[in-house]
Amino acid sequence: MAILVMSGLAATIALLLIVAARRLPGDKQAVVEQLNTLLPQIQCGRCDYPGCRPYAAAILAGEAQINQCPPGGEATIQAIATLLELPRLAPDRSFGIHDALTTAVINEKDCIGCARCLQECPVDAILGARFFTHTVITDECTGCELCIPSCPVDCIRMSMRGAGAPQNQS
Ligand code: SF4
Ligand code: SF4
Repeated sequence: MAILVMSGLAATIALLLIVAARRLPGDKQAVVEQLNTLLPQIQCGRCDYPGCRPYAAAILAGEAQINQCPPGGEATIQAIATLLELPRLAPDRSFGIHDALTTAVINEKDCIGCARCLQECPVDAILGARFFTHTVITDECTGCELCIPSCPVDCIRMSMRGAGAPQNQS
């Protein structure tokens, strides 16, 4: 009985390995990893993919263009074009402003301390506690904009780094 169970288990593992090997041949996976290292790792999703690595895999699969990463900007487009020996493309601005070093700024007068933005920030760049005003630690903020849709009173704005509070803060 034990031999039967063991050989069944071995057969299942072997089958899984074959499927995995067929799915992502080693060299393709290696290229996806290389592409992923060229991306800014902000995981902001502005490329229309749920993070940098899925975008890297989509580029290699020919499903995405190399100019869809705003935070990566022109330098990332160039690096990917060089790696894949592809023509360099102009940034696709429909995905956002490329190369813009932005940071989130909370209008503290309007903040109601709901703490929703805290949960959205992938790098813990927001400081605050329930029922207290929240603020952004500029040096920690990657400009990913993931916190903006979470704010029920719409008091989070993106500002160019070093520009201080956005002009439109009343
Ligand atoms: S504060 Fe907002 S924009 Fe900045 S890293 Fe956090 S979620 Fe992204
Ligand atoms: S989501 Fe908006 S209102 Fe809520 S704590 Fe954050 S900044 Fe303040």
